[in-house]
Amino acid sequence: MARYIFVTGGVVSSLGKGLTSASLAYLLKSQGYKVRVRKMDPYINVDPGTMSPFQHGEVFVTDDGAETDLDLGHYERFTNISAKQTDNITTGKIYSDIIKKERKGYYLGKTVQVIPHVTDRIKEFIKCDISNEDFVICEIGGTVGDIESLPFLEAIRQFSNEVGKSKTLFIHLTLVPFLKSSDEIKTKPTQHSVKELRSIGIQPDIIICRSQQSIPISQRKKISLFCNVEISNVIETVDVKTIYEAPISFFNEKLDRQVFKYFKIKPKKKVNLLPWKKITKTVLNSKKYVNIAIIGKYVNLKDAYKSLDEALIHGGIQNKVKVNLVRIESDNLKKNKIQEKLKKVSGILIPGGFGKRGTEGKIAAISYARKKKIPFLGICFGMQMAIIEFSRNVLNIKKAGSSELDKNCFPVIGLISEWTKNGKLIKGTSKDLGGTMRLGSYEAKLKHNSLINKIYKSKTINERHRHRYEVNNNYKNQFEKKGLIFSGMSPDNKLPEIIELKNHPWFIGVQFHPEFKSRPLSPHPLFSSFIKAAKFY
Ligand code: GLN
Repeated sequence: MARYIFVTGGVVSSLGKGLTSASLAYLLKSQGYKVRVRKMDPYINVDPGTMSPFQHGEVFVTDDGAETDLDLGHYERFTNISAKQTDNITTGKIYSDIIKKERKGYYLGKTVQVIPHVTDRIKEFIKCDISNEDFVICEIGGTVGDIESLPFLEAIRQFSNEVGKSKTLFIHLTLVPFLKSSDEIKTKPTQHSVKELRSIGIQPDIIICRSQQSIPISQRKKISLFCNVEISNVIETVDVKTIYEAPISFFNEKLDRQVFKYFKIKPKKKVNLLPWKKITKTVLNSKKYVNIAIIGKYVNLKDAYKSLDEALIHGGIQNKVKVNLVRIESDNLKKNKIQEKLKKVSGILIPGGFGKRGTEGKIAAISYARKKKIPFLGICFGMQMAIIEFSRNVLNIKKAGSSELDKNCFPVIGLISEWTKNGKLIKGTSKDLGGTMRLGSYEAKLKHNSLINKIYKSKTINERHRHRYEVNNNYKNQFEKKGLIFSGMSPDNKLPEIIELKNHPWFIGVQFHPEFKSRPLSPHPLFSSFIKAAKFY
């Protein structure tokens, strides 16, 4: 039977529970155990798909088409295990399942309540779709003390009671602040947070203390004493210079060994930290750098393009250069300022996006990249904008646009009415916005001898999608005559998946999101090639 590790957070949010869970998962996997990492989010949205990136950061998409929390991206990047639909649940999803059942009469006259119905559904989630995993790490979103988190905490308490303490471990991550004025490290917030957790019946087994500096033994003892946790299970995590150092740092703090000790098991093989040491060195010591412009609506929020930022850095690791991300707010990119804003960059990237705001700035930047022969990568919305730019400025279709943005335009980008998934026809006409896009992994076939074909070194690829609109295939010949080729198509030849420019050293648009599949230990070929092109620009 699997062992379950629950990771909660206290004192403040954004302490890095996701990174902690991902690093622990790597350490356990590297020592021979089969691991699964999942996330429970206490908000009421059914999934983060309809939320603005300003609210929630990036929406991460899985192979099987779930729109999930960005922490699942960390898990994948650190463990190289593809997350599934069953690895993320929210309060909204739980309630909508329960209410659907209630309407069908499933509860047979009973009053439907948080305990036991909601908590039972949470426990079902924890155990579902697990086969021979040795460890299931479950991160609980939010902070202990939040009203929304309560049913989840109650559920994991019950779960531990039912499955037994020998199969469940509670890790609590807290902030241990340093007060400059008194030159002291403070343990009180941790004590309070653990008190809160204990009041709902959960005694943490391991406390991970996030701190700006090393915590003296006297303070660790205090945490151990007040929080009722063995001193060797009070583990510190001091801020690392790059996230790739996190597995090394947790190993040095013996987090994995304390977990093994708790479950009374031993590692099956020796941990391998070498790849992390190598990439940490490359990231911290690269002297050469390239400036890459990311032009989007949400650039002011660090987490809005999380996987993308990561994938670009991975491309840099592969090419032994540091990637400086120059974030440019598309709203402020006026045509006459393009040259000035972009003169120092050697690569331009337009990421995925929705809605009209900022699109003219993006189109102007693409025009600049096309004419100046600057390496350009357009992702999803970025590819659609590249098609609009080319239509207007090369094909001379002045009213060219996307029906997502302007109902009266000449729609070179239009709503996809239907597509096939696993042999089934799916209609894109649903009025609901949530979960109705073309989502998840789809195949594309690549044109022989195209740039993309050389980059992937493959005839077919599988990449993750998240879109409702698509390049209008009716104009394919017109585009290709003028040098913009459709170098990747869906297997039925209906949906353009990749475009590239013939007379340009590196100009590619992709309808999918390659960033979701890049890993620090195996950078994505598209990003490696893009950074390489930027390096030689
Ligand atoms: N808004 C566009 C669409 O729905 C692009 C989406 C995206 O960039 N992920 O097709």
